[in-house]
Amino acid sequence: GGSRKSRNPIRKKSIQNHIRQSIMPRDIRVRFAPSPTGALHLGGVRTALYNYLFAKKTGGKFLLRIEDTDRTRYVPEAENYILEALEWCGLKVDEGVGAGGEYGPYRQSERKDLYRKYALQLVASGHAYYCFDTNEELDAYRKDFESRGDTFIYNVSTRKGLKNSLQMPPEEVDELLARNRPYTIRFKMPEDETVNIYDLIRGEVSFRTSILDDKVLFKSDGMPTYHLANIVDDHLMKISHVIRGEEWLPSLPLHVLLYKAFGWENTMPEFAHLPLILKPAGNGKLSKRDGNKMGFPVFPLEFKDETSGEIWKGYREDGYFPEAFVNMLALLGWNPGTEQEIFSMDELIRAFSIERVGKAGSRFNPEKTKWFNHKYLVEKSDTELAKLLRPIVEKDGIETTDAELEKICGLMKNRASFVSDIYEESLFFFKAPETYAEKDVKKHWKPESPDILKELAKILESEEDFRAPVLENAVSKWINSRELGFGKVMNPLRIVIVGAAKGPHVFDILEILGKKESLERIGNGLERLKL
Ligand code: GLU
Repeated sequence: GGSRKSRNPIRKKSIQNHIRQSIMPRDIRVRFAPSPTGALHLGGVRTALYNYLFAKKTGGKFLLRIEDTDRTRYVPEAENYILEALEWCGLKVDEGVGAGGEYGPYRQSERKDLYRKYALQLVASGHAYYCFDTNEELDAYRKDFESRGDTFIYNVSTRKGLKNSLQMPPEEVDELLARNRPYTIRFKMPEDETVNIYDLIRGEVSFRTSILDDKVLFKSDGMPTYHLANIVDDHLMKISHVIRGEEWLPSLPLHVLLYKAFGWENTMPEFAHLPLILKPAGNGKLSKRDGNKMGFPVFPLEFKDETSGEIWKGYREDGYFPEAFVNMLALLGWNPGTEQEIFSMDELIRAFSIERVGKAGSRFNPEKTKWFNHKYLVEKSDTELAKLLRPIVEKDGIETTDAELEKICGLMKNRASFVSDIYEESLFFFKAPETYAEKDVKKHWKPESPDILKELAKILESEEDFRAPVLENAVSKWINSRELGFGKVMNPLRIVIVGAAKGPHVFDILEILGKKESLERIGNGLERLKL
C-alpha cells in the first residue's frame, strides 16, 4: 500500500515533466560522442547509426564530438579510425570534428579551459566541493575498508572524515588553494533523494541518491571528467536528445542532478539508452575478444593495436558491403514492426523510430550478418561485382577479360556471400582441373563414359556458335536420338570440365570457357581417366 501511494505522485510529475519537454519547440540536435580509446566496437557504430537515423528522420542535425579528456586512455589513431568508420558506413556528420560548426571546437581537449569555470560555479552554489585528499590517502582508505570486507566510497557517510572543503574552515581551503595544492572537485550527491526521469526507451526510471557516490567532476590535472564535460558540452551545443548505450544508464541520475545544479533543467535533453548487444549465445555482452575467439569481426574496419601489435578483424576487410553491415546493425535492437528485413539507408531513415527500439539485449548473429551480405551481393550488377572480383583474380596472376568476369559473376553470385566466395567457387574457370574428385569419378565414370564423351566432343567441335542455349539444344537432340539419358552424359562431362560433379549449369560453363578450352579439357580427362 504505502509504496504505491508514494510512487504515484512521482510518476505523474515526471510524465508532466516529459510532456513539457516535448512540446517545447526545439531544434533536434543529437551527437555521437565517442572516446578515442581504441577501435570503435560495432555497438558504438550502432549508437552512431541510431543517432544519425533519428536526426535525419526528424530533419535534425547529427554531431560528432570527440571526448578525449581521459589522457591516460587516449589512443592517437582512434580518432581517424572513428571518422573513417563513420564514412565507410555512410553516416555523414553535419557538425563537429571533421565537419566544423558554430559550437566548436568539438574535441574536448581543445575546450579544456572552459570547464573549470563550470566546476567552480557548482562549488560556489554548494553543489560541489574541493577535495585535497591525495591518491595515497585514498588508496589507504580503500585498503583499510577492503581489509574489513567493505568497499570505500567517497559519499555522504565518508566525506565527513576526509580532507575536503565541506569539512575545513574556509580560510584553510583558501590557503591550500593559494599554495597551489592539487585538488579535485567532487559532486555533492544529495543524501536521500529519488531521481525520476523518463527514458524514451525504458519509460520511467528512478534512482535513489543514497547509493550513489560523490563523483569527481574536475581532476587535479586540470581536466574535467567525462561527466562534467559531457553535460557542459551537451548544454552548450544545444543537444536535444542523448541516445547512447545502456552502460551509461547508471550515470543518468548524476547527469540529471548536474542539469538541475546548473539551472539548465528547462533545456535538459531527452534520454534514450540503447539495449546491450549480446554474444551469439546470449550469455553476456559482446566483447571485443569474442570476435577473434569466434572468428567474426567486432569492428567495422581492421585495427592494428600499435602498443600490443594485436590485429582486430574488420567488416570492411572481411569483404562485407557497408550497406549490409549497416542494415544488420539497424535491426540489432530496433524492429520496423513489419516483416521487412532489407532496408536501404533512405528506407531506414523513413522507418526508424526510437519507440521501436527494445529494452532487452539483442543477440549478435554472425550467420545472419553473412546472410545480409549475400542479399546485397545478389542485388549488385554483374559489372559492379566483376570490378570487385578483378583485384582478387589478379592477385593470383590470372588474366581475364571484363566480359568473362561479368559472366562468371552472373553465374556464381547466387551461391556467394562474399565476392571472394565467387572467386573460390569459380577457380575452375581459370585453371583446368588436374585431378578429379575421386568420389564423383567412382560414382559417375562408367566404362561407356569415354565413348560418350568422344562423341559429344565431335558435336561440340562442329558447333560454330558456342553459346549455352545453342549447345544445350544440340546436345539434347543428340542425347534423345541416342536414347542415352542425361545423367550418363552430363556427369562425366562435368567431371572433366570442372574436376568434380559440382558447379553451375554445365552449358554456361562451356560458353565461358570457349570451344578450344572445353575440348582440351575433355581430351585431358579422357587421357587421365582411362580405366
Ligand atoms: N564518451 C562517452 C562514450 O565513450 C559518451 C557517452 C555519452 O554518449 O554520453 O561512450
